[in-house]
Amino acid sequence: MNCLTILIVNIMSQLMPTLPYATDALEPVISRETIECHYGKHLQTYVNNLERLIKDTDMEGLSIGEIVELAPEGPVFNNAGQVLNHQLYFLQFSPKPRRNEPEGELKRRILRDFGSMELFKKRMTDAGTTLFGSGWVWLCSDREGRLEILSCHNGDNPLRHGKKPLLGFDVWEHAYYLDYQNRRADHLTRLWDIIDWEEVERRAADKSISVADSANY
Ligand code: MN
Repeated sequence: MNCLTILIVNIMSQLMPTLPYATDALEPVISRETIECHYGKHLQTYVNNLERLIKDTDMEGLSIGEIVELAPEGPVFNNAGQVLNHQLYFLQFSPKPRRNEPEGELKRRILRDFGSMELFKKRMTDAGTTLFGSGWVWLCSDREGRLEILSCHNGDNPLRHGKKPLLGFDVWEHAYYLDYQNRRADHLTRLWDIIDWEEVERRAADKSISVADSANY
């Protein structure tokens, strides 16, 4: 592959994150079959749809975060939201996390705003279990750095609400049905075993909310 071809491939694949682990590396929490379908088919379809929808429009030069913030309700927002949601989702996991909880500033903020790690995990898992229909549950931060759990329907994202997404649980059935069938709560409980807290800490360390002034999204 020559340099120009590599450059073009890189530009075209910008919206599609590269998985930092093998497709079977998250087993048994998330199976290879689920990763191949969820990442390879669902996310790829959102990326393809978004690229088609924004081609030759004012949105084409914007970052994914800017599109999520600015797009009117409808197909562009739905697909952009799902692209950003899944970028954050797939990059927040590690097959063998070095720690099973955050440390430093993020840990301090979780203890301050939720009382304990156990209470935080319970509230996040419960929010995901009780969200009716398809959507996401996010740990997010407001402009003052206060943490909260936000339930979002369909492709919604905390950025639409002036909040910064730090950690997201996908509760669309495609995220867990092959492995857990209707047992959504079991799936969410197992996710805690593969959270890459260093990645979540990195997101939390950047205090900016609007993606227009953040390098992260
Ligand atoms: Mn999904």
